[in-house]
Amino acid sequence: MPGRSLAYLSTLGVENVKGLKGKRSKALEEAGITSVADLLLHAPRRYLDRSTTVKLADVPLGEEITVMGRVTKTSMRRVRRNMTIVDAVITDESGAMAAVWFNQAFRHRQLQEGAEVALSGKAERYRGKLQMSSPAVDVLDTPSESLITGRVVPIHPTVGGVGPGYLRRAIHNAIGRSRPIEDPVPPEYTKRLKLMSRDEAIGSIHFPDTYAEAMTARKRLVYDELFRLEVALALRKRRQMAESNGLAHTPDGALVERFKAALPYELTGAQKRSIDEIAGDMAAPHAMHRLLQGEVGSGKTVVAVASLLAGVQGGYQGAVMAPTEVLATQHYLGIRSLLESADLAPPQHQPDGEAGTSSMFDDDGGDGPFVRCVLLTSTTAEANDRAPGGASRDEVLEMISTGDADIVVGTHSLIQEGVEFASLGVAVVDEQHRFGVWQRVGLREKGRGADPDLLIMTATPIPRTLAMTLYGDLDVSVLDEMPPGRTPVTTTHLVPEQASTAHDFIRAEAADGRQAFVVCPLVEDSDKLEVKSATAEFGRLKGVFPDLRLGLIHGQLHPVDKDAVMSAFRAGDLDVLVATTVIEVGIDVPNATVMVIEDADRFGLSQLHQLRGRVGRGEHASSCYLIAEPTTPEGEARIEAMVATTDGFRLAEEDLRIRGQGTVFGTRQAGMKDLRLADILRDAELLIEARRDAFGLVNKNPDLSDHPEVRDEVMALLGEDVTWLFRS
Ligand code: ADP
Ligand code: MG
Repeated sequence: MPGRSLAYLSTLGVENVKGLKGKRSKALEEAGITSVADLLLHAPRRYLDRSTTVKLADVPLGEEITVMGRVTKTSMRRVRRNMTIVDAVITDESGAMAAVWFNQAFRHRQLQEGAEVALSGKAERYRGKLQMSSPAVDVLDTPSESLITGRVVPIHPTVGGVGPGYLRRAIHNAIGRSRPIEDPVPPEYTKRLKLMSRDEAIGSIHFPDTYAEAMTARKRLVYDELFRLEVALALRKRRQMAESNGLAHTPDGALVERFKAALPYELTGAQKRSIDEIAGDMAAPHAMHRLLQGEVGSGKTVVAVASLLAGVQGGYQGAVMAPTEVLATQHYLGIRSLLESADLAPPQHQPDGEAGTSSMFDDDGGDGPFVRCVLLTSTTAEANDRAPGGASRDEVLEMISTGDADIVVGTHSLIQEGVEFASLGVAVVDEQHRFGVWQRVGLREKGRGADPDLLIMTATPIPRTLAMTLYGDLDVSVLDEMPPGRTPVTTTHLVPEQASTAHDFIRAEAADGRQAFVVCPLVEDSDKLEVKSATAEFGRLKGVFPDLRLGLIHGQLHPVDKDAVMSAFRAGDLDVLVATTVIEVGIDVPNATVMVIEDADRFGLSQLHQLRGRVGRGEHASSCYLIAEPTTPEGEARIEAMVATTDGFRLAEEDLRIRGQGTVFGTRQAGMKDLRLADILRDAELLIEARRDAFGLVNKNPDLSDHPEVRDEVMALLGEDVTWLFRS
C-alpha cells in the first residue's frame, strides 16, 4: 500500500496541522517537535482506562484513586488576603463529586465548565458531601470538541506548554491527514515478529481501544526506532570496510610468540580469545574497528600490547592514546616493563650519537630484535629525562617520523599537528567514552595512506545492549574472566562518625606493607575547591597517621609533580595516597589494598566502581570503605548497590535504572535522539532482533538501492545524529 512516508512527513512543519497555528506551533518547535512526523511520534505518556477508573457512585473513601467526569460547576473565591480557593463539581453518569484547591488559582482557568477531566487523589466526606481536596488534574478535553470516545484515554506529555487536550486534537488531525502511512520495513521482518503495520501502530499508540492494543503499537514503533538506528550503524560499518584502505598484518610471528612466552603469568581464556579475535581482524585486509570491553583489572593492557606487537613485527608502528597524562605515563611504564620481561626492550645505554637510530630491524650485536617504545605528552621532555634512554620532545617526534619509535604512547597530543608517523599500523585508544568520535577518526588519519587497525579499550561496564547501540559499528571482544587469584573487594558503608574504622584498617594494612587510597569529596564544577578540600584533608590525615608516609595528588598539580607522586606510590615509598578523582581510571598498583571514598554518595555509580577498581588488583584481599550519609534517595541507592555487588555489569544496569538511560554518560550520545520510546534495558530483546534485521538488510543490499525508503527515513529521522555515521 503506497502511502506517505515518515521521511516526507518530517519535511512538513507542525504549523500545517489544524489546531496548531501560530503561537502553539512556535512553542512546539522550540520544544523540539518541528515536523508532522515528530508530532506523530510524540506518544502518550500514559493511558487512563475507563474500565478501571472508579464510577463516582462507587468512590471508596481514603484511597488513592482516579475518577473521570465533566466539570459541571467551577468557582473561585478569595477568603483572606493570601488565600484563594477554587471549587469545582464533576459529574459522570453515576453521580457527582466536589473538589477543592487552595492557593492554586490557575485551576480556575484550567477547569472550564464542560471539560472532561480526570482527578487523582483521596476522596473524603465533608459536610455530608463527597469531596477531593487538592487532587492532581488531567484535563482530558475542552468542552468544544471531544475525542474521548473510546475506553482508553491517552495522556500526551505536555510540550512547550501545549497540554494534552490540544495535543490530542492536533495529533488526531495530523493522523487523519497523513494516512495511509507507508511501511518501509521489509515485511519478512515485521511478519516474523508479528508486528502490526506502521499505519495501524501510529493510530493505535495515540487512540487505542484497549491498553493492550496501545502496547502492541508501542512494540512496533520501538522496533522501528531500533531498526533505524541499527541500519545507520550497519551502513557506517559497511562504508568503513569498503572505503578503508586497510592493512593485512601477519599477526602470527616471532615477536608475538616471544612476548607471550615471556609473560610472567598464563593468559586467561578471555584474553586468549580476544587476542585471537584481534589477530583475525588484523590479518584481514580491511581496517579493524574493535572494542575491547573488560572489567577493571581484567587485563586489557597485555591484550593491547600483543596487538601492537602484531603490527610492529611486520614493520609498522603502534600507537596508544590515553585520556590523561597520568594514564599515558602509566601505560608507557607498563608496556616498557612488559617488553623488558620479554627481553624486547632496547639496550639502555646507547653509544653517543646513536640514540634512536635502531629499531627491531637492526641487529645490535646479537641480542635479537627489540621494540622501542616512546612517550609523547605535553611534558615529554621531563618525563623521558627521568626514564632510561630518555629523549627530548624533538627527538621523540623525529623517532616517530622516521619509524625508529615502534610504539608511541601519548595523550590526545598524538593526533595533533606536527606528529607524523612513518607507518602507523595499529592504534589503541584507551577509555573510549572520554574521547569524542572525532578523535577516534583523527588517530585513523595519522595512518597516511593506509588506515591503521583500531582497538578501543573501555573499562566502562556498558550493558551489552547499550554497547550495541552506542558502538554498533564496532566489533566487540569482552574480557569476562578475571585473572586467577583475585579476591573480590569487600565493601563497607560507614557513616562519617565511623571513619576511624577505616583509618584503623589503613594502619593495620600499612603495618603489613600494603598501601591505601583516600579519595576526597567531589566538588561539582570547581577544581579549585576540590583541590582545596583535598589539601585540607591531606593535612588532617597527616595528624591521623603521624607515622605513615602520605602523598597528595590532584588535578592542579603540574604533570611532572603528579608523575613524581604516582611514581613514589607505585614504588611503595608512600603508604597512603590522598587524591581527588584524578586517580579514577586505570591506575594499577597491585600492592594497594584499601580504598576509602569520602562523601561517597556524591559520586556516580560508574565512578565509584572505577575507584573501587583501583584495589583488589593483586594477590592480597582488599577493602573499600564508602563514607557517606546519603541525603538523596539516588545517593542511598548507589551506596546500596556498591555494597551489594562488585559486578560492573550489574552496577551499570543499576546505574541505568537509577539515572535513566538518557544520561548514562552525562551527555546525550550520538544516535540516541531518535530513541523516543525505546528503553534499552526493557526492549533489549527487540534491540537484538532489530540489529539482526538491519545488519541482514545492509549485508544483502549495502547501498540500500532496493530500499530507498529505509535509507531516506534513517537520514530524515536520525537527523544531525547521523551525520557522523555517514561521514568517513
Ligand atoms: P585493566 O583491564 O584494568 O587495564 P590491567 O591490564 O591493568 O587491567 O591488568 C591488571 C593487573 O592484572 C596487572 O597488574 C596485570 O599485570 C595483571 N594481569 C593481567 N593479566 C593477567 C593474567 N592472565 N594473570 C595474572 N595477572 C594478570
Ligand atoms: Mg587499564
